[in-house]
Amino acid sequence: MTSRFLPPYLLQQVAASRAEAADTCLATLAIDERLRAERAARAPAPGSVAPVPGELAEAAWTVHDARRGTTLPGDPVRRPGDGESGDVAVDEAAYGIGATLAMFEQVYGHTSYDGAGAPVSLTVHFGRDYANAFWDGTQLVFGDGDGRVFERFTKPVDVLGHEFAHAFTEYSAGLIYRGQPGALNESVSDVFAACLKQRLLGQRAEEGDWLIGEGLFVPGINARGLRDMAAPGTAYDDPVLGKDPQGAHLDDYIDTTDDNGGVHLNSGIPNRAFQLAATAIGGSAAEGAGAIWFATLTNGSVRPTTDFAGFAAATVAAAGVHAGVVRDAWAEVGVAVAAASGRGQRRATGSGPGSGADAEEADLVAVRRSGGFAGMVVDGQVDLRSGDERAEELRGLVERIDLRAAKPGMPHPDMFVYAFTLCGSHLVVPEQHLTDDLRRLASLVLEQR
Ligand SMILES: [Zn+2]
Repeated sequence: MTSRFLPPYLLQQVAASRAEAADTCLATLAIDERLRAERAARAPAPGSVAPVPGELAEAAWTVHDARRGTTLPGDPVRRPGDGESGDVAVDEAAYGIGATLAMFEQVYGHTSYDGAGAPVSLTVHFGRDYANAFWDGTQLVFGDGDGRVFERFTKPVDVLGHEFAHAFTEYSAGLIYRGQPGALNESVSDVFAACLKQRLLGQRAEEGDWLIGEGLFVPGINARGLRDMAAPGTAYDDPVLGKDPQGAHLDDYIDTTDDNGGVHLNSGIPNRAFQLAATAIGGSAAEGAGAIWFATLTNGSVRPTTDFAGFAAATVAAAGVHAGVVRDAWAEVGVAVAAASGRGQRRATGSGPGSGADAEEADLVAVRRSGGFAGMVVDGQVDLRSGDERAEELRGLVERIDLRAAKPGMPHPDMFVYAFTLCGSHLVVPEQHLTDDLRRLASLVLEQR
């Protein structure tokens, strides 16, 4: 294991059921290239999807069924006004998108994610055993889960709200998906996800459980949810999953190359600030602190590279009579609004595949997959001198792969990112840029015991 802060999640799964898990690895890896090509073909220019004024040019939302394939968007199966389909994932997605659009419209006066009524495309039953959900720049996508750890990703409505909010962020502040702006991007998605869940349950901020992804895990996994905004780092502690690695204070900021710079790890810090502000303001989180965060993201005060300190200052500036409360909330998590750059002492970890491998690295092939909605790490390595049955094929792949030809580039929210160590060379590649050879190499290495 090269991982210091996350558990051998898939590796232990593999030990329990190697063949089955290998299939899952391959299935999850299979989306990449085709997704990229299809996205390029489908992607509308921002602003080009607004409906005809006064009359919707097309349905406000459409749920599609990929039928366990990876072609997007799949077959349209439900639109507004249609009755229940009888397919639980389809109907959960329909309910969730209706509720999400209603919250943005009714609470913030914002029509769809772009504020101009863009029709929302959703796809369920994506891939086989695909344990993730994401926004790919044009639509929302949900897997059915692997059935061993994760249930279907449409089950908790806040997962859908989270993915929709990624679209909202892209079309408003445009926070880049890396480092502190990336952690803020992640946090904003959790913020509106929690607002949505509490609004549907009729809860005041102080009544909410502040869990993201409650119900996402199969029975037997010791997890209350995937993240806890009120107490980051306490959502789960399980032999298979390991322990929730989120920190709740800037002193616990995790510097890592995984997960686009720990965007799903460090989001706990701004998440906690929002939860503190929302409960101090009281009432509905969506209408109280949520309205301040919404204003912050849409009033031009947040730039794509805004860091924690800049974002905190922008929320204080947008908070009106609640400015003091919001400033105190950020101070509680170590982000001082007055400071130019409030980044405190940081803890370094997870420096990537093969770290510390030193002299033996020349014969080491390592793969580390991070990111995804859950922000969890799966890794593996093969020593080419070890007699491992995969060594011969891996050696051929390593000789053929030209790292200089691989495309790094920015990841999409909640898609995976792969770090490769190939006999001394290192490369990080987002899921949609994997070549056939890199995908094969990753599937070989990650199916290890
Ligand atoms: Zn996300």
